[in-house]
Amino acid sequence: MNVLKRLNDPQLGREMIRKVRERAARLTERLGRAVTLMEVCGTHTMAVSGTGLRGLLSGLVELRSGPGCPVCVTPARDIEQIIAFARLSGVTVATFGDMVRVPGAQSSLERERAGGARVQIVYSPADALQLARDNPRWEVIFIGVGFETTAPLAAVSIKQAAELGLTNFSIYSVHKLVPPVMGALLGAGDLKVDGFILPGHVCAVTGSRAFAFIGEEYGIPAVVAGFTPVDILDALYVLLDLIQAGDHRVVNGYRWVVRDDGNLKAQRAITDCFYTGDAAWRGFGVVEGSGLFIRDQYAQYDATQKFAGAGPASVAGPGLATERVGKSTTTGGFGTGDFLEPRGCRCGELLRGLITPPDCALFGGKCTPASPAGPCMVSSEGACAAYYRYVTNQ
Ligand code: SF4
Repeated sequence: MNVLKRLNDPQLGREMIRKVRERAARLTERLGRAVTLMEVCGTHTMAVSGTGLRGLLSGLVELRSGPGCPVCVTPARDIEQIIAFARLSGVTVATFGDMVRVPGAQSSLERERAGGARVQIVYSPADALQLARDNPRWEVIFIGVGFETTAPLAAVSIKQAAELGLTNFSIYSVHKLVPPVMGALLGAGDLKVDGFILPGHVCAVTGSRAFAFIGEEYGIPAVVAGFTPVDILDALYVLLDLIQAGDHRVVNGYRWVVRDDGNLKAQRAITDCFYTGDAAWRGFGVVEGSGLFIRDQYAQYDATQKFAGAGPASVAGPGLATERVGKSTTTGGFGTGDFLEPRGCRCGELLRGLITPPDCALFGGKCTPASPAGPCMVSSEGACAAYYRYVTNQ
């Protein structure tokens, strides 16, 4: 039982697991089915799989993954755009490692790099900024993938670039906001869950109050959780009690990190550099007010403006191993376009909590970490990668 190994106090851990199982069993009996919960964020997805919690609660609690894996929710259209940037002469694409292997319609950053494109893995926007400073002849485009947690760091790097007068640094912002997509998820009406485990790190920036609408408007309880096994067990314990009591509150179970109003300094950093607009998400289409786009004041650091002629690398055409799964309007000045998904890939449904990875016919066969068909198998926070590594292959 991995979870016990990771607890400082195994006795306390055993007791917590016993109590969580006991509560889950009582609820399961009352409901006549397993309690269904969604762990919204990819870090929780990895934690509940990696610690064995998913298996430990099997039959009592069904844990569904949600839209909280930033690489996974970056839509195909943006992947194509990023590949187009990598093909530009003189450009270096600086990106988090997970993005490199995400398959596009015909290529990936990994393939582009093998073909001679400059693609550099970085660990933060600050690294990308440094890359630009160290290599003044390169045009460095940082791929800004992430949620409220990473956007403040990107904002700081934009401001630093401005202070330094750097002219060879820009960001392609595909940063996204979690509360609007939760609204879209619940508003769609097809998700059936009894409660949510909310991402502690996102809530540290937004504040727990940003998610209060889940209880108030949709009557579903939620608990903000940290990331250690004890944090997650504690959140489960509280969440199961809320469900049992018919209490639809959103409870902050990570009080030592998360305030009701969040981190005002980080929020200011975001709003100083970004404005909110409609953004496309894999599996959701366009979600109103869910994207962060660089303000005009910093237009010279906005890759969409600096390289306005570099449209997406490919669009749907005969013979491409993609299928059209929706049609909407993209943002960021690239006009309209279809959302393309790898044929047979069900990442979209997975990100909406409608299925689990083994429900996808490609899982473990045509789609593995060594040969991924979709982003949920690539990302270190992807549900398919977590299932493949910890659930089905243990
Ligand atoms: Fe997509 Fe692969 Fe997951 Fe299927 S198993 S949903 S193809 S990532």
